[in-house]
Amino acid sequence: MKNPFNPFFLVAALLLPWVLPGQVITVQGAIDSRDMGLTLIHEHILVDWIGADSTGYHRWDRKEVVARALPYLQELRQYGVGTFLDCTPAYLGRDPRVLKELSEATGIHILTNTGFYGAGTNKFVPGFALDSSPGELAAIWIDEFRQGIDNTGIRPGFIKISVENRDTLPPMHEKLVRAAALTHLETGLAIVSHTGGDAPALAQLKILQEMGVSPDAFVWTHAQNGTFEGYLQAARQGAWISLDHIQAGQPGPADGTGNIPWYVQTLSRFKSQGILDHVLISHDAGWYDVGEPNGGGYRGYTDLFTHLIPRLRENGFRQDDLDLVLKENPGKAYALRIRKN
Ligand SMILES: [Zn+2]
Repeated sequence: MKNPFNPFFLVAALLLPWVLPGQVITVQGAIDSRDMGLTLIHEHILVDWIGADSTGYHRWDRKEVVARALPYLQELRQYGVGTFLDCTPAYLGRDPRVLKELSEATGIHILTNTGFYGAGTNKFVPGFALDSSPGELAAIWIDEFRQGIDNTGIRPGFIKISVENRDTLPPMHEKLVRAAALTHLETGLAIVSHTGGDAPALAQLKILQEMGVSPDAFVWTHAQNGTFEGYLQAARQGAWISLDHIQAGQPGPADGTGNIPWYVQTLSRFKSQGILDHVLISHDAGWYDVGEPNGGGYRGYTDLFTHLIPRLRENGFRQDDLDLVLKENPGKAYALRIRKN
């Protein structure tokens, strides 16, 4: 019989990732997904658009970024936000140390990610990845999950990839999807894919299914660029529909409501079709723009609370509907769980 106090087993236990199914990994460590609370699933703190061949931590001053972003995160405390997903990928300004400092300063759980961003004709994909196999890419991402990112010990809470919004996926982007599938099967991290329209979303779901990954591991990001028919198809397969561009004010109609009426109408259709349990919403707002003086213009993360929620309530949404979309769905979508089909 194996002795549980054998030093070998103790060491092995300490080396294993300290994560159990049902947890989510924040920049400060793993928490129970039921403790996420109200969650903004797609936002940004920092973005550097210069491209994979020139970006790096040398491009920004961490203190300046934290000082600029901090008030916008503090503002979220009064609305009861518990968790914030930073969707900036590697080679586009991902900086786990900035996120950890902000999380420590505000008490908000923050998640970062692993993966590569293909849209923009691979400008944000590191050169070596163009010749790598899906397995080689997955090995890099799985290593971040196990060991942490860039020697920080900070681990990713989801996979973020991106594909071109086209009817047919370019080979490089198909490779990113395959790498994400392999990473999911090893880690249980959700696959968040910057996508856009119906065709690339459904094409990715097909690849995932071929690879044995259930559609409910997939978050169709920027689905506001798709159609309701597409949402129905994807949601019925089990995928998550991410409507992540809540924005009142400009650009939009002169009354300053922006896309709020569209959100009210679309979420009402989700509710009447019985698929409100497959939608995720957020602003895709922020951020400190590297290269702009003091980060340039910064869009806050509060239109959900100041504009959308009041309109949803006027349109028959009860507290349990809001809790479903803003608490339960994120908990289910992002909790670590290997989802096989
Ligand atoms: Zn985004």
